[in-house]
Formats: sequence, C-alpha cells, structure tokens
Amino acid sequence: MKYRKNKLILIVSLLLVTGFMATSLASYYTSRASLRSQIRLSQLPLTSDNIYSEIQRDLLPPIFISSLMANDTFLKEWIVKGEKDKDKISRYLKTIHEKYHTITSFFVSEKTRNYYHADGILKKVEEENESDKWYFRVRSMESDYEVNVDPDMANNESMTVFINYRVYDDKHNFIGVTGVGLSVTAVKKLIEKYQKDYDRNIYFSDDLGNIQLNGSNLSKRVRNISQIQGISDFTKEILSKKHNYFQYKKKGTTIHLNIRYLPELKWFLFVEQAEKKSIKNIFNTLLANLAACAVITIIIVLLTNLTISSFQAKLEKMASTDGLTGIYNRHAFDIIMKQAIKSGQRKSIDLSIISFDIDHFKKINDQFGHPAGDLVLKNIVSETKNIIRESDAFCRWGGEEFLILLKECSLDDAYLIAEKIREAVFNASAVYKGEKIFATISLGIAHYNSDEDQAALLSKVDKLLYLAKENGRNRSEKEISTG
Ligand code: GH3
Ligand code: MG
Ligand code: MG
Repeated sequence: MKYRKNKLILIVSLLLVTGFMATSLASYYTSRASLRSQIRLSQLPLTSDNIYSEIQRDLLPPIFISSLMANDTFLKEWIVKGEKDKDKISRYLKTIHEKYHTITSFFVSEKTRNYYHADGILKKVEEENESDKWYFRVRSMESDYEVNVDPDMANNESMTVFINYRVYDDKHNFIGVTGVGLSVTAVKKLIEKYQKDYDRNIYFSDDLGNIQLNGSNLSKRVRNISQIQGISDFTKEILSKKHNYFQYKKKGTTIHLNIRYLPELKWFLFVEQAEKKSIKNIFNTLLANLAACAVITIIIVLLTNLTISSFQAKLEKMASTDGLTGIYNRHAFDIIMKQAIKSGQRKSIDLSIISFDIDHFKKINDQFGHPAGDLVLKNIVSETKNIIRESDAFCRWGGEEFLILLKECSLDDAYLIAEKIREAVFNASAVYKGEKIFATISLGIAHYNSDEDQAALLSKVDKLLYLAKENGRNRSEKEISTG
C-alpha cells in the first residue's frame, strides 16, 4: 500500500515537473526567439533608418553644394585661364563658406597643386606628404566624389567630413578637386546618444571597410572593419553588400549586426546590439517561473500525500473495525490474535481470553425491535471498554458474541475482569424511547497454553461460554486450572 502511494506521488511529481518544465522552457525559448527577431527585424533597422535620415539631413546639402562648385563656370574658367587673380578664388570660397555655414571650402588645382581656401593659398599638395594622400586618391578615383573624414589643416586639425568633388574642364580633362568640409560633432553626438540610450554600437566605414566615423565604444586602434573581433571572418561578405544582417559571438554574448550601404556617402553604416541584457531579463523570468512551479509542485505533492494518507487511514480503519460498535472486527482480531499467540509462544507471556454472548438477545430484539437491540449492543461494548485496558484487544466476533484478548493477564485475573464486566452489564441498562432495557451476558474464560494453536484456544473458550449458558446464564465459567 505504502509502495503504491509512493509510486503515485512519484508519478504526480514527475508529471508536474515535466509539465512545468516543458511550458516554462517553451515560453523561454519562444520569448528569446521573438526577442531576437525583434532585434533583427525591427530594432536595428529602425535605428539604422533614424541615423540614415539624420546623416542625410546633415550630409546631403554639402554634397549638393560641392557638386554645384565642381560645375561652376566661374571656377572652371578661372582655372583654365591660368589661376591668375588669387583674390577672386578666395572671395568665391569665402562666399560659399559663409553662405552655407560650412567649416571650410577648398579647391586644389591639378596644374599648380595649390590648396586654395577662403584665406588664400594654404599649401601645395605633395604626393609624398601623408596628409595630402587624399588628393591623389581622389585624382585617381572613378566616381565623381567621395566623403572622407580627416583632420582639417586649416582648422586646428579638428575632425571634419570632407566632400571631395572632381572638377573637369569642357573637354572632360581632370583639372582639380573642390568641395566643402563640415563638422562631425553633430553625427558623433547622435552616435553617442544611440550608444547610451539603446546600448547600441554604431560606426561607419567606407566601401573598403576603413572606419570613417565611430562612437567611443570602438577602439581608436581599429582602422578597418577586418580588425574588429568577430567581424573579420565575414568582411568580404559585408563589403559585397549581399547581406544586411549578421550574428556573431563576442565574449560569450550574441551580437546582432545590421549593415546598410549609404550610396550618397559610399559608406556602410553598422548598428550592433548585444542581446545579453534583454536575454538576461527573459532568463530571470524563466528562473522565477521555475521557482514558482517548484513551490506549486511541492504544495500539490504534500496535499496529495495528506489526502491519500487520510483516505488510507480511513480505509484501514474501515477494514479493521466493526461499523456498529467501533471495536475490532473478526478479520482484525484474527491478525492480532495470531501475533499475540506467536509472541506468547516465544516469550511465554500470560495470555488469557474472554468470550461472552448476550443472554436471550433474540427476545430483546423481538420485544423492543432491532434498533433497540443495536443500542443494547453498543451499550454493552461501552460498559466493557470501561473495565478492560487499552492494550486489551476487544472484538465483535459474531452477531452478539464478543472476544477479549488479555495480554500479560493470568486466568484468575481474567476471571475477575470477566466478573466485573458481567456485573457492570447486569447493573446497566440501555434507554430506548424512554424505556430501560436490561440485559445480561454469559462469559467463558480460558488461558493460553503454549502447545495450543488458535483454533484450540477458541474452541476451549467457546465450550466454557456454553457451559455458562447451560449453568443458568448471567455467569462466568473459567477453565479448570491445571497449574
Ligand atoms: P442465547 O442466550 O442462547 O445466546 O440466546 P440468544 O437469543 O441470544 O441467541 P440466538 O443465537 O438464538 O440469537 C441471537 C440473536 O441476535 C439473533 C440475531 O437476530 C440477533 N443479532 C445478531 N446481530 C445483531 C445485530 O447486529 N443487531 C441486533 N439488533 N440483533 C442482532
Ligand atoms: Mg449467540
Ligand atoms: Mg445470545
């Protein structure tokens, strides 16, 4: 029975644990997948869109101005005519600079290699000079313009976005580079804001992967995307513009990377997000769920255990007791008696037995009715219980026949107890519908001898009970002592 109960509790616990684990884990993995797709499909592209539109707002007008300058007939004529009146070009560049609020405006002549700006000639560009490399790059490039971030020599070397536009004469010969420069602070601020507010990493590279602009998250030593840990493996794929989303691992956390090519700038915009923080929240929810499930499982298991135990106790009681009187039934007494005889044989303990039967009980039933008879039965049981010990086993053996097993009790003591019971029953009465019903009992008392078995003992005491009946009822007959 106990084994079955434990098995049931084990099955219930296993079912609950697997059920709870399955639902918690399923919801964890679904939330994680939805978070990932949210980062990939919505959060990163949105950030990228916002930055792109800010950049367009800031950078497209200067590109347009530079284009106008490169196609300006005054500028072209002035160059073709031999760059004579230097004041004219300075005034022209100054007007552009003031009108459009750029940091700088410039023209570099292919013929003289003079670098003109609003205040005159700044220098001559030289191929060997590191800071003039940009000119020779633009000189040999195929597209009409580039956007480049460099320190501005004319402005305390402050970081500036230059629009470098190629200038041609009427016969499409390359005659120099013109354009404007503007501050990167606005774009930088935006990058920092996104990094801070949304925990995102933002940077720009040109179409060769050279980093052009970045926030403080990216080390200054990183000059090309191929140097960024995790990205180096797929630099080629990024630059081929085939995919706009990548995922990689950095220090154990998954990084989601959105890449967008900005054709006007010929730059790539990189927006990265580490999922660690958001996943941590989901993971904590999973832990909280599991903890709640564990508590619920424990409570259910305890309740199941209690319910089963109480039903078990009730069933056991029902199986071993008599419904009318509440004392042991024949089945339970049989077990008790077997055990008592066994231990009696082993330890030679005094074991006595009393058997009693109600006298002329049929008449009581006939005279007062069956319910009154029941009351008499209960009454006699109650009188008997008052006299015997807790440790004595009292049983309703048949309809109105009872047995009492008295451990560590001699035949004489058992006889005395039997007499007490007889007297108590004789003096007591059951009151049924206001009427007193008196009854008597006849008793047989025997002592257990270690060479006897249970049947022999029962038969012995039964004979003594009938002897008492024969001898006139309301009396006790004990075994004739041999010892
Ligand atoms: P005796 O003195 O020889 O024992 O006579 P008796 O009438 O008591 O004996 P008998 O065996 O003839 O009758 C026993 C009666 O007990 C018959 C039966 O209907 C009644 N009886 C048995 N169990 C119950 C019970 O649970 N309730 C009631 N009310 N009567 C019962
Ligand atoms: Mg009888
Ligand atoms: Mg009887």
